Amino acid sequence: MASSLASPSPTSSFIRNKKDLGFSAFPSTSQIAIQKCKKQVSKKIVSVMAPQQSERKPATTGSVKTGMTMTEKILAKASEKPQLSPGDNVWVNVDILMTHDVCGPGSIGIFKKEFGQNAKVWNREKIVIIPDHYIFTSDERANRNVDILRDFCTEQNIKYFYDIKDLSNFKANPDYKGVCHVALAQEGHCRPGEVLLGTDSHTCTAGAFGQFATGIGNTDAGFVLGTGKLLLKVPPTLRFVMDGEMPPYLLAKDLILQIIGEISVAGATYKAMEFVGTTVESLNMEERMTLCNMVVEAGGKNGVIPADSTTFKYLEGKTSLPYEPVYSDAQASYLSEYRFDISKLEPLVAKPHSPDNRALARECKDVKIDRVYIGSCTGGKTEDFLAAAKVFLASGKKVKVPTFLVPATQKVWLDLYTLPVPGSGGKTCSQIFEEAGCDTPASPSCGACLGGPKDTYARMNEPKVCVSTTNRNFPGRMGHKEGQIYLASPYTAAASALTGYVTDPREFLQ
Ligand code: SF4
Repeated sequence: MASSLASPSPTSSFIRNKKDLGFSAFPSTSQIAIQKCKKQVSKKIVSVMAPQQSERKPATTGSVKTGMTMTEKILAKASEKPQLSPGDNVWVNVDILMTHDVCGPGSIGIFKKEFGQNAKVWNREKIVIIPDHYIFTSDERANRNVDILRDFCTEQNIKYFYDIKDLSNFKANPDYKGVCHVALAQEGHCRPGEVLLGTDSHTCTAGAFGQFATGIGNTDAGFVLGTGKLLLKVPPTLRFVMDGEMPPYLLAKDLILQIIGEISVAGATYKAMEFVGTTVESLNMEERMTLCNMVVEAGGKNGVIPADSTTFKYLEGKTSLPYEPVYSDAQASYLSEYRFDISKLEPLVAKPHSPDNRALARECKDVKIDRVYIGSCTGGKTEDFLAAAKVFLASGKKVKVPTFLVPATQKVWLDLYTLPVPGSGGKTCSQIFEEAGCDTPASPSCGACLGGPKDTYARMNEPKVCVSTTNRNFPGRMGHKEGQIYLASPYTAAASALTGYVTDPREFLQ
């Protein structure tokens, strides 16, 4: 490991408080970079203005007196108020409540205790129950949790229950999906302008669809099960403007690691993080999901990205329900605005044991690793595996450390075996992974992202050093409390697998 706590080039970004133009909280050595960004301010404000048809929606938010951010507008609409400001407490109508096998049983218990043993949920079609965390294990308590979900869904006639009964072969369970945040998107439950709550901190992932999405506790979920409402405090919004062409060696994971490194793991506590700019607009939906997935690692209440043609195209055929996109007003007020010139960013990692322990991948070359893990809601989507395959393909080499692949969902797993990797002459990801010597893609689930029972596939049962595409690197997160996790993009993870040390993907992609 490099002796210094290397941080990315300060010229890659600067921060400015909206009310104090030109103030830079982080030193910048490049006046050129600042001038360039300053010029973009007015240009970018124009780019996030609401499209004509959605800029004002009196029917849903009343007459707008003061500009509101997307988050404020969505909560105003959901609480049937014409105007909201940060700090307001409002009863919000929930569009979707998601729970899973870890928190579902507790939420159900609270619902039954508070509403009665024979109570009915508020809306059987707005509750989505997804077993995904501790699935492929012989742990009886974990298996029992899924049974509790199944009994409840049968009793309540829940419409969206993605069940798994045969643990010996996930493909024998056509309803089974896998990791909840990816499944929610793939099954059309993420829709612009709506409120999606889930008993999981990474529920914020769905903000990629221009909706308000956040994690809640079991008690709140029990209340939502009974009423369809929740009291929420409106968060102030931090605005992140990312401009510039994305270099071919970067992925959204690098962008969010840059941001968290910049503002720290507490930098967005109970704040909305709104992502805009030409770089964000160029990202596909799965990359946008990566960006929003990790806002909670900065303490964010929610992350949000304006819906656009990329969003609408992704949603085609996934939902038949009407939705109404919401956009920030040009006069909206932000707590702070951060601007980044992404073309100058370099591949990053977050070193143990915090997602804000940012370092340049190229400065961690002396970190010898034992394994690589590609999976989770952050880094186990189809695009993540396509990115990893691209690196293996470019190198033509074999991995030097065990490389574990855990597709987030059954759909992702299928993609690995069917989608041709661009530039490969028709090879699939699975063929490329096999040629590179990776482990066979595992059954879709949360896997070892959060450790899980001892028999969980790829769990760190010993103090290993791992480069991982997941989102948290706290002690014990993937199993052993002395394990060391370097969070990285799928490019960096694949490059590191090929060398056996933390590796900048430019070693193979240029
Ligand atoms: S993949 Fe990891 S971060 Fe995502 S929901 Fe599962 S345990 Fe949580």
